[in-house]
Amino acid sequence: MISEKVVKAMNDQINMEYYSAFLYLGMSNEMDGKGYRGYANWLFVQYKEEKEHAEKFIDFLQRRGQEPTLATINAPGKVPATPLDVARAAYEHEMKVSASIDKIYELAIKEADYASASFLKWFIDEQVEEEENTRNIIGMFEGAGKDVSAIFAVDHHLGKREDE
Ligand code: MG
Repeated sequence: MISEKVVKAMNDQINMEYYSAFLYLGMSNEMDGKGYRGYANWLFVQYKEEKEHAEKFIDFLQRRGQEPTLATINAPGKVPATPLDVARAAYEHEMKVSASIDKIYELAIKEADYASASFLKWFIDEQVEEEENTRNIIGMFEGAGKDVSAIFAVDHHLGKREDE
């Protein structure tokens, strides 16, 4: 049986995933406004992916006979102005998401809710990828430094990201 505590934690996670979507959308808007159209595209694809993460939790709860609870999504707040600072903020955020997923997994095991633990494994793997991707982008913009043409080469590369 699904644990009530796990249901509560998953509802909170739905909110965190929608907040993540909102955060990436804000970053995408900021980068678009600054002329970094490629990074704006990458961030917009990420925005869509975060909505899918929320939907995965919604679907799982429904399949287990639970009605998901939707709560207010916080505004993303002030977005950094440079691509490097945005990349750093994205990485910091993904670290927080990873910690949150780990906590729900820990709780599921503690509550002997093994179906939820099994479902959460996909997210544990996904977070390895999210941390890797966001960290790689920091490296690319750090490597470009203050060289404008190098920054726009990175931006162009990030513009190639497509929906998965
Ligand atoms: Mg996510």
